[in-house]
Amino acid sequence: MSCYNTPCEIPTTGGFPNTFASAVQFFAASQCLLTEGIVKEDYIPSNTKFDFIIVGGGSAGSVLANRLSEIKEWKILLLEAGDDPPVESNVPALDKSVFRTQYDWKYLTTGDAEIDQAVINNSINWPRGKMLGGSSNLNAMIYIEGNDQDYQRWYDAGNLEWSVQDVRRCFKKGQSYQNERLLQNPKITEHYGHNGPLIINTFNSTYRIVADKILKSWNDIGIKNVPDLNTANVLGSGIVSVTAAYGERQSSNKAYLNPVLHRKNLKVLKNSFVTKILIRRSSKVAYGVESTDIQTLTLPLVPSGPLANRYDDYDVPVG
Ligand SMILES: Cc1cc2nc3c(=O)[nH]c(=O)nc-3n(C[C@H](O)[C@H](O)[C@H](O)COP(=O)(O)OP(=O)(O)OC[C@H]3O[C@@H](n4cnc5c(N)ncnc54)[C@H](O)[C@@H]3O)c2cc1C
Repeated sequence: MSCYNTPCEIPTTGGFPNTFASAVQFFAASQCLLTEGIVKEDYIPSNTKFDFIIVGGGSAGSVLANRLSEIKEWKILLLEAGDDPPVESNVPALDKSVFRTQYDWKYLTTGDAEIDQAVINNSINWPRGKMLGGSSNLNAMIYIEGNDQDYQRWYDAGNLEWSVQDVRRCFKKGQSYQNERLLQNPKITEHYGHNGPLIINTFNSTYRIVADKILKSWNDIGIKNVPDLNTANVLGSGIVSVTAAYGERQSSNKAYLNPVLHRKNLKVLKNSFVTKILIRRSSKVAYGVESTDIQTLTLPLVPSGPLANRYDDYDVPVG
């Protein structure tokens, strides 16, 4: 450490020391370039009416906020228990550093003396995101669509609007597939959507030696290498697609929520933990929620009418 205070034995000349110091300063400050920006907090007077109240601004909540607020006549409120995601969420390799912080619900499993016997109290970490974007800001970003049979089971259980074709159509609507090398393969180009909000790509890797050996081993035992797992109906082995691009995580809030924050009919409250869903005893219809947040204590919020059939009044294409 003494080198910090002592002059160099052979002094540098010219502008190099300044350039070096500026570069260090720039890199230190560059973390600020990686944040998504703070989501402005809306002020909501008590008893304000909304058409839809979304509890949780995570992976699903961000999509809902985006899609519902497309209808200008509807007033949408999104309540999120956590805050804005930290810069570490944006950098793919740093996601684990978000575990066990204020951005994680910090759940622990309960030991049952059978599983996880190697750890203290048989209890392990069970991370779940507590921030805008929810778990999409700390997950592993792997983009696997699932096998046709997964969705056929939904259909067979009576969900006729969730056939394999319908689910795949919805996936495509959300996707913006951007792996330029694989896009040269017509089957892959056909499989993915290209104009959706969620960017999908593959991680850059400079050191493929181990991965290639593993892939060869899978191939050798009959689980054949495929260029893209989703196009192959997840039957085979290969390099996974991910919700990451340009070296950044593509979280649900980045893809769906942030681009529509300017919409006047969408209000967002952070640090707002919903403690109760209010349900009318007679009709069994939800009419509001109670949310305790650090600024406003209890805040009953009342939708402006029964939610049932509201969606049917408008021609909203599903998917
Ligand atoms: C460590 C980890 C790795 C994963 N890796 C992958 C992967 O590689 N690929 C993949 O496809 N999936 C992965 N998953 C799963 C995937 O991230 C989740 O299935 C998905 O994010 C769940 O979406 P969700 O909207 O249901 O919940 P979340 O995204 O968790 O959102 C729920 C939101 O609701 C908020 N909330 C909860 N209760 C309240 C309340 N009472 N009031 C207000 N707000 C509330 C939470 O704070 C949170 O923001 C991973 C998950 C984890 C935890």
